[in-house]
Amino acid sequence: MSEVEISPEDEARYMEIMAAYDEAMRREAERISKRRAADHHTNCRDCGKFTGKARWVLKDSALAKERNHRPLCESCFDEYDDNFY
Ligand SMILES: [Zn+2]
Repeated sequence: MSEVEISPEDEARYMEIMAAYDEAMRREAERISKRRAADHHTNCRDCGKFTGKARWVLKDSALAKERNHRPLCESCFDEYDDNFY
């Protein structure tokens, strides 16, 4: 008998969690794919390059309005040592 015994219940719960995670990822991808450029800041705040939809910032969001948050493209993001923005 092994020390770590996984019950069928635990395995079922694990599969449920993984399925829920996949579903959440799928919904997030779908949500991102529906973004419209007109409603978002779409260009990198450092180099001005057009960024991918996943990086866009909603113009109406509190982050954009109150904290002046803007997208950052991948190559500019990589230049920040601490990757904090
Ligand atoms: Zn950039």
